[in-house]
Amino acid sequence: TKPAKETADEGASYDIGLQDTENGVVTRFPPEPSGYLHIGHVKAALLNDYFAHKKYKGKMILRFDDTNPTKEKQEYQDAIVKDLELLGVKPDQVTYTSDYFQDLYERCVQMMKDGNAYADNSPQEQLQKERMERVESAHRNDSVEDNLAHFEEMKTGSEEGTKWFIRAKLDMSSDNGALRDPVIYRCNPTPHHRTGSTWKIYPTYDFACPIVDSVEGITHALRTTEYNDRDAQYQWFLKTLGLRHVYNWNFSRMNFIRTLLSKRKLTKIVDQGTVWGWDDPRMATVRGIRRRGMTIPALQEFILKQGPSKNINYQDWTSFWATNKKYIDPVAARYTAVVKLDHVKCTVVGAPEAPRTEDKDVHAKNADLGTKKVVFSKHIILDQADAQSFADDEEITLMNWGNAIVRKKTYSLNPLKAIASVAGQGERTITELELELHLQGDVKKTAKKITWLSTDQELVPVTLYDFDYLITKDKPDPEDVLEDILNHDTETKTEVLADCNVAGLREDDIMQFDRKGFFRIDKAFGHGEAAVAFAVPTGKKM
Ligand code: ATP
Ligand code: MG
Ligand code: MG
Repeated sequence: TKPAKETADEGASYDIGLQDTENGVVTRFPPEPSGYLHIGHVKAALLNDYFAHKKYKGKMILRFDDTNPTKEKQEYQDAIVKDLELLGVKPDQVTYTSDYFQDLYERCVQMMKDGNAYADNSPQEQLQKERMERVESAHRNDSVEDNLAHFEEMKTGSEEGTKWFIRAKLDMSSDNGALRDPVIYRCNPTPHHRTGSTWKIYPTYDFACPIVDSVEGITHALRTTEYNDRDAQYQWFLKTLGLRHVYNWNFSRMNFIRTLLSKRKLTKIVDQGTVWGWDDPRMATVRGIRRRGMTIPALQEFILKQGPSKNINYQDWTSFWATNKKYIDPVAARYTAVVKLDHVKCTVVGAPEAPRTEDKDVHAKNADLGTKKVVFSKHIILDQADAQSFADDEEITLMNWGNAIVRKKTYSLNPLKAIASVAGQGERTITELELELHLQGDVKKTAKKITWLSTDQELVPVTLYDFDYLITKDKPDPEDVLEDILNHDTETKTEVLADCNVAGLREDDIMQFDRKGFFRIDKAFGHGEAAVAFAVPTGKKM
């Protein structure tokens, strides 16, 4: 199905062909609190929100699918709530699968009594092999009493109990592997972040999901397309347990080039210190991409533009960041920075003897953003690379000032550059430059518009960071060993000096350094420490 129109700000309109919407629509977003939300989850959350609240005026439930205490934490749960808030997704109700543990337990007992489930203790490999070969387990026809006894043993969390699990009795000969007696309950003595040690048995997603969906009044269960094969199983549970019908509706998983979205792998790189944390700007988590400079409306627009398409594809980060640029470009204030270690001192002949400060718009096309102070004086600095490019007597433009003519260059031999012989940079460093103002010159006729800073102001040190992809493979396979595809060089740092106005910027401000690009302030300047700014991509990187 294709989007009918693309006005994502207000919500695109999709004809998604949900059945029976006349009787109300209740959707749910069911994250497992086993990690922070990533951009794939955002798609699921925004789609559920869109159908429930915008398209059909129904209801949406946020359900924590907390059925595996080994992976889940309160920290993750709290972060999910906050991130959804940030995304503008407002659930009508927050529920927990763990609130249904008693109910689910009773239903499992009933299934065993009805001959619809049995206890098994086959080792993992044997289980897999038998399932592949469509062979029934030796325990498949155990007595109800035996099955119930094993379940009770599991419930105690004993060592013997942990060896057992419960399977639904469906159809071992089915062509659909999902119907070959899926596991519905496991024993796990690990304490649960909500129910503590009350339970030592936990329902699987396959079992809990249809039941809780039905009980909670969900009308349409949206799932990613890899669940297609499990729809039949889902419907079997509803029918076997005599539960209210729920429609399944599938949408494609969102993937990005060179990006990890598996929570298991994300957890690993956080735990092993490959990244600074879940909010690392290299992570495709909601927090990571925000910290990198993504804005929420841009994220919403990007995701809703994809629509509920069923094609599995890999997104390129280019269009993601291009969408963001549309939002930040008109409102990002412009400032100036010069590379700290490699700048050139200039004397400007014809400049005012005493430094003069003027107020200039921080954005040439948006006067609403206010003004900044620009200091004009005889002493300025500019980037070495710019100075190197100047021809003798070349007329250049000093941005926000006017034209000047290059009069004198003083060189020193740079041994490092002499060896490396950096292409285009020459072997010599320019240590000083003399420019002569030529304000009557036409700024439209010069080839170079140069950024510069008067040293007669308090220059602000800033550390600029740029990041690269965390992995080296465009489309990682689930079998890939993480270490083999990790990129170990993902961070570039540049120390710069910025104009005095930058001292007033705060964390989260998104701005542009003229000719250097967009940045998000990650740490404001203060206490004698450099500010920290992250490059906001507008092209391919993540
Ligand atoms: P992982 O496999 O990384 O653990 P998950 O799918 O198990 O992810 P959940 O917390 O269970 O993570 O996901 C919550 C919801 O988000 C589910 O409905 C799931 O289908 C959806 N979802 C997860 N990843 C993506 C993705 N990449 N694209 C679209 N939806 C996704
Ligand atoms: Mg899941
Ligand atoms: Mg999962």
